[in-house]
Amino acid sequence: ENVVNKIAAGEVIQRPASALKEMLENSIDAGSTQISVLVKEGGNKLLQIVDNGSGIRKEDLPILCHRHTTSKLREYADLETISTLGFRGEALCSISFVSHMAVTTMVRGAQYGYRVTYKDSEMEAPGPRPVAAVPGTTITVEDLFYNVPTRRKALKSANEEYGLILDVVGRYAVYSTGVAFSCRRQGDSRPDISTTAAGSRVDGVRSVYGADVARELIPLKVAVGGGTGPEVPVDGPMGMSVEGLISGANYTTGKKTVLVLFINGRCVECSPLRRALEGLYGALLPKASRPWIFLEVRLPPRQVEVNMHPTKREVGFMHQAEVIEEIRRAVEAKLMASNE
Ligand code: ADP
Ligand code: MG
Repeated sequence: ENVVNKIAAGEVIQRPASALKEMLENSIDAGSTQISVLVKEGGNKLLQIVDNGSGIRKEDLPILCHRHTTSKLREYADLETISTLGFRGEALCSISFVSHMAVTTMVRGAQYGYRVTYKDSEMEAPGPRPVAAVPGTTITVEDLFYNVPTRRKALKSANEEYGLILDVVGRYAVYSTGVAFSCRRQGDSRPDISTTAAGSRVDGVRSVYGADVARELIPLKVAVGGGTGPEVPVDGPMGMSVEGLISGANYTTGKKTVLVLFINGRCVECSPLRRALEGLYGALLPKASRPWIFLEVRLPPRQVEVNMHPTKREVGFMHQAEVIEEIRRAVEAKLMASNE
C-alpha cells in the first residue's frame, strides 16, 4: 500500500517547486504577512518555509498529514463557494510520503510552540514536543524523493530546479501584496527574492522581475456581467473581473512572454489565453512581442474547476472562449491607446 501511496504522492508533488507552491499557498491561507523560503541543492536536500501565520493547534497536529485533512472545507457544499486557495488536503500528506518532514508551529498568544516530524502521513513518536517558538509555522522538507528514484532521476540540475522555485515564489510575491517574501539559497548571504509587505504590486514586480519590466507597465481593469459572487448561476450570464499590469510598446527587451496568471487566487497556466495574447502583441507591437503580463482574474467560483487534479497546471473554467476574448479585447484597447 505504501508503494501505491508513494507513486500517488509523486504525481501530486512532481518536483521541489510543486511542493513549495503548495506550502506557499498554505502559508498565505494562514494569513501570513511574512514568508521566507530557504533552499539547498535545488530543494532536493532542503526546502524550508517559515511563515508568521495562524499557526497550527496542538490537537490538529496528529492528523495534519492524513489524506483529506483540511481546515478549509467543512461541508461538501463549500466546494461551490470555496474561496481559499487549497482544499484538497492532499499536499502535506503527499509530501510526507516522499520526504523527511518536520513542522514547528505556534499559535498566536501561546507560551511555546510544538515540533513534530511526519513519515508516510503519520506523526512520528513521541508526538508534539514543546519548543520555544514565535507565532507561525515552519515546515522543513528534507531529502525530497529519497524513496522515489524515478522522480529523483527526472529532476533537472539543482540550478534549474532552483530557478523553478524562484519562478513560483516570484509569482506569489507579485500577487500577494501585503506579504513580504524572501527566497534564499542556503549559504548565500543575500536572498534572490526579497519583497516588502508595504510595497505596491509594481514595487513587487520591480524587485522580482526588475526595473525594466516595472517601468512601463500599463494598468488594466475589466469587469463584465453581474459580479463574481456564488449567486451568479452556472449557466447564466458570465460574471468576471480582471485586474492586470501589462507591458507596452517600450518593453522590447523581453526574451520570452511572461504571463503571471491568477484565477480566483490560484496561480495557474492557461495556454489558449497565452497564445491569444502572444498573437495580439505580435500583431500590434512586433518590436515588443515578448510581453510581460500579470492578470488577476475573478470568476464565479462555480465556473472554475477548482477541484482539478493538482498536477494539472492548466486551469479549467466555463465560458473559456468568451473569457479569453474579453481579456484579449481589453488588452488590445489598452495597447492601442498607449501606442497612439
Ligand atoms: P489544504 O491546503 O488543501 O487544506 P494541505 O495538505 O495543504 O491541505 O494542508 C492541510 C492543512 O494543514 C490545512 O488545511 C491547514 O489547516 C494546515 N496547514 C498547513 N500549512 C499550514 C500553515 N503554514 N499554517 C497554518 N496551517 C497550515
Ligand atoms: Mg494546501
